[in-house]
Parts: sequence; C-alpha cells; structure tokens
Amino acid sequence: MLPQELIRKKRDGHALGDDEIGLVVAGITNNTFSESQVSAFAMAVYFQGMTAAERVAFTRAMTHSGRVLSWDEHALGGPVLDKHSTGGVGDKVSIMLAPMVAACGGVVPMISGRGLGHTGGTLDKMGCIPGYRCDPDIETFQRVVREIGCAIIGQTADLAPADKRLYAVRDVTATVESIPLISASILSKKLAAGLQGLAMDVKTGNGAFMTDPAQARELAETLVSIGVGAGLPITALITDMNEVLGTTAGHTLEMAETVAYLTGTGPRDPRLHAVTIELAAEMLLLGGLVPNLEEGRDEAQQALESGRATEAFARMVAALGGPSDFVERSADYLTVAPVVKPVIARRTGYIAGMNTRAVGVALIDLGGGRRKTSDVLDLSVGFSQIVSVGVKVAKGDVLAMVHAKDEASANSAVAVLGRLIHVDDPEPVLPPLIAARVSQAGPTA
Ligand code: URA
Repeated sequence: MLPQELIRKKRDGHALGDDEIGLVVAGITNNTFSESQVSAFAMAVYFQGMTAAERVAFTRAMTHSGRVLSWDEHALGGPVLDKHSTGGVGDKVSIMLAPMVAACGGVVPMISGRGLGHTGGTLDKMGCIPGYRCDPDIETFQRVVREIGCAIIGQTADLAPADKRLYAVRDVTATVESIPLISASILSKKLAAGLQGLAMDVKTGNGAFMTDPAQARELAETLVSIGVGAGLPITALITDMNEVLGTTAGHTLEMAETVAYLTGTGPRDPRLHAVTIELAAEMLLLGGLVPNLEEGRDEAQQALESGRATEAFARMVAALGGPSDFVERSADYLTVAPVVKPVIARRTGYIAGMNTRAVGVALIDLGGGRRKTSDVLDLSVGFSQIVSVGVKVAKGDVLAMVHAKDEASANSAVAVLGRLIHVDDPEPVLPPLIAARVSQAGPTA
C-alpha cells in the first residue's frame, strides 16, 4: 500500500489495522516513507488519535523495528528497571536516579532521548561530558550495565530505530503532544531495552506536553494499560511541571546541578529531591527490592548519603568514555558561557508563577535547543539560580541568571525571563508536587 494511502486513511479518521501499522513503521524505519510523509503521518495521528488496539499495535511495531534486548536477571544479580519522563523543563532526574537505583541493587539500562519540543533531553545533557559515548554498540552497553548496574545512552541504530526517526521529526513539526505518539515513543524504547519494571513520570502543568491534569491522567492510564498488554509492570506518577524542576535549565548547567546533587556539594532543590526519591522508591518496589515505598525512599536516600550513588555515576561515566575524575573536576570539564547576567525582580512580592514552556523556548532561542533536526546545540547556555514559585522576593533580588554566548542574546533572554517569571502580592497556592499515582491496581489520589 502506498504511504499516501495509509496517511490518507488515518487523516480521514479511520483506524489502521495491525498490518497497515506495520507498513507505516517499516516505512519510517527503512526510509521508504520520506521526511514529509513521516511528518504528515504524525500530524494525522495528532489530529485523529488512535484506538486502543492501534496504540498497542503501533507500540509493538515500533519496539520490533530493531533489536529487542533480553537480560538474564540471575546473571545480572538484580531486576532490570527504568524510569522515563514525558518531558519537562530542567528535568534532570534520570541522571541522578539511574545511579541511585543501581546503588540499591537495580539494573538500569536507560535509553533516553534528545530534547523534544520545548523540553530538554537527558541524552543531550549527557553529551556535555567530554568523551562520553551516548551511542556505544549494544555489546558495550550491555557490558557496562552488567558491570556497573546502569548506563544512560541514546537510541542506537539497533534499538527502536523507528522511534529515533519519528522523534526527530515530531520535535520540529509540532506533533509532540499526542497521547498515542508519546506512549509508543516511550514504551517502544523501554520494551526494546528488555525491562522488568518501569516508573513513569508523567508531567502536567504549563511546562509539560500534557498541560491539563485530565490529559496527563489519560496518558498515565494509557501507558499503564499498554504496559499490561506487553507484560511490562508500570507505575506512573503525575507530577507538577508548572515551574522549572530544580534551579537550572540548560545542558551544562543541569549537569553541574546533578553533580552537586549527587555529591551533596550544593543545596538539593526540595522539589527535585522529592520527585527523584519518590521515583526511586517506585522503581525499587517494582523490582521487588523493597517491600513498600517507605523502605524504598529510605534505601534511595541512603544510596545518596553514603556516596554509593555518586560512585555508580562516576564509574558509568568513565566506562562510557568520559573522564575518570569527572565528578571531582566537573567544573574543569563543563564548558561555560562567556556572558552571564542576572534577571532582577522589579518589585517585592511572591513568585506567583512562571510560564515554564516559554522558559524552555527561551532556552532554544539562546541556542540550547533545536529549531531543525540537524541543529547543533550550544550546551553552555541556559539559566541558573531560577527562583521557585511561592518564594518571597524583594525588589532587586535575583530571579535567575542568564548564561549566553553574547551580549545581545543575553540581554534579550534577560528581558524575556523578566516577563515569564511573575511576581505578585498574594501568596500563591501551590499545586501538589505529586498529584496522583497510577498503577495496574488503578489510580490513587
Ligand atoms: N519522551 C519520549 O521518549 N517520547 C515522547 O514522545 C515524549 C517524551
């Protein structure tokens, strides 16, 4: 069947059969669908959605577009677990979580993505570490996972290659915010990695793809139910993305925050810490490593405090080609932007909110994100010392620092950020950080 006939059928709101979905995914994988046909298909799905049966078939076909790994849990010594976020601004949780869970006995083969739309990607953040190989061959990936307990890499040509191409097209064609596309994208990578349990962080709020909590819940329930069909236990937490997570946004700045978090050499942002610990506890519970969430939280905290998580991170970095002293000397290895300027509060009051999506777009404008798939990122630019919503500030206080490649882009980002972070009189009521938990047993909260 011709690509245009398959696209037309979806465009007109008809459900595709398993075979037709197989043809689309094969076309995406082997390039018989052109770039424009891939983007037209993504847009058709964006508008028409997919039935439950289509979502399952699409996820399955994407998973099998490449190699599917299998692990021997006994030889590994622990359950194969992972976590994935639906995408946010300043979300560096994965980089802390993988070594934390490895330090607690889990095995984490983490296949992550590049930045998508206005959100940052874990893979791009790992790209700040000089020499770090985000695309090792599968044998190296498996060896590092076996020896250290975790490895964070990108999609190789072998694992879920259909998602690799579709993801890059969606990034620049305004076709990200679609439940069937997001769920197939995430789960194909995770199923191809041969997981035994997955904790999902489904973001909701003005910096998430699912701005509306009801949509976030639908996405969480879709992920859990596709997981049930595919034999992959999934627990999804719906977490707040109405502000940047942590105090930084931008690749090297987020890596610096991550290292400070792991080593305890800087303050741990409370929201970032709470989300990280909760997801770690969920992973440990899914893997049967703890009997309940409370013990999971304690284990994760101990892995952090004892330095075992930092050690796992340092070993992973070195095993994948990064410097063996990256943790001790990260400041020497991370490139810094030449121009740094403060965003100053123009009045006294509370931080009433921020337009988080626009903060992500401002980062792209600075050069820290892609406008087209081939763009090379400026890893050094971004924002640090970003204030939290609900904090009281005085006129003249710093709301954030802008890191830019030149004066002009710094000045423009300072002006933009000044408009995106709102200061007002009444103390705002904050949404819950973790709004709900969705698991096979059903939603709570
Ligand atoms: N993360 C992914 O891997 N894919 C999406 O579509 C969104 C978030």
